[in-house]
Amino acid sequence: MKPFVRALISAMALAVVACATDSAVGRSDHGQQGAAPVPGAVMTRERQSRITPEIALKMLQEGNDRFLAGKLAKRDLHEQVKMTGHGQFPFASVVSCIDSRAAPEVIFDQGVGDIFTARVAGNVVNRDIIGSLEYGSKVAGARVIVIMGHTHCGAVKGICDNVKMGNLTDLLEKLRPAMDSVPEDGTPRNSKNASFVDRVAEANVHRQVRQLLSDSPVLRGLVSEGKLMVVGAMLDVETGRVTFFENHDPAEQMAVHDSLHL
Ligand SMILES: [Zn+2]
Repeated sequence: MKPFVRALISAMALAVVACATDSAVGRSDHGQQGAAPVPGAVMTRERQSRITPEIALKMLQEGNDRFLAGKLAKRDLHEQVKMTGHGQFPFASVVSCIDSRAAPEVIFDQGVGDIFTARVAGNVVNRDIIGSLEYGSKVAGARVIVIMGHTHCGAVKGICDNVKMGNLTDLLEKLRPAMDSVPEDGTPRNSKNASFVDRVAEANVHRQVRQLLSDSPVLRGLVSEGKLMVVGAMLDVETGRVTFFENHDPAEQMAVHDSLHL
C-alpha cells in the first residue's frame, strides 16, 4: 500500500472515531457501574439494567437542571429513532397535564426511547393510565413513575370555579376531592386565588399517587421489590422548575394521605 493511501485510511479512521466520540448517541459509558448513562445517550438494555429507581429520579432532576440552564444534552433524535426502532428501554414514566407548558420530554430534556408519558387534563390517573404505567414498568422496565402537577392549571381552576362543560365536566369532578381537602384559610376558594389553585393542584398530585399505589398490586409489588419508585412533583410554569416531593415511601405516602382524607 502506498504511504499516501495508508495515511488517508488512517485519517479516515481517526475521523470516524472522532465522530463517534462526539456523537451523544454513540457515547460510551462503560466503567460507570451504577452510574447514570451519559445525558443524550440512547437507552439500551444494558444501560437500563444499571439504573436504580434513585438513579432514574436523579436523571430526571438533572434533565430539568439542564433545561433550566439552557444546556440541553447533545442528541440526534433521528438517529435515536433508528436505534430504538426494534426495541425500547425507557427509565421513567411521567403522568402530566395536557398543558402546553408541561411536556415531560421538554422540561426533563429527554430524547426518543427515554420516557413514557401519559397526559390528561389535571394529571388524574384512571384504570387505562394505571394499566399503561404497569406496562411501562413491569414490561418495559421504567424505574420511576412521576405524577406531575403544575401551577396555574386550567383544569384545577375549572373545578375551583365549578365549571360544567361537555365531557370535561366528569373529568373535573375527579379533582373535587383534592379541592375539598385543602383547609379553609379565610381566602377565596376560586380560580382568582392563585395560591388556592396551586394548593389544590399539589393536593391532587398526592391524591393521584395514593390512587396509583392503591389500585395497582402490580406496581406495589415492584415498589416492594425495590424495582420502582413512585414520586409526586410540581412544575412551576413561570420558571420551568420541577420540584419533586420528598416522601417516596409508599406506606407513608398512603398513610399520610389517608390522614388528610385525600
Ligand atoms: Zn393543567
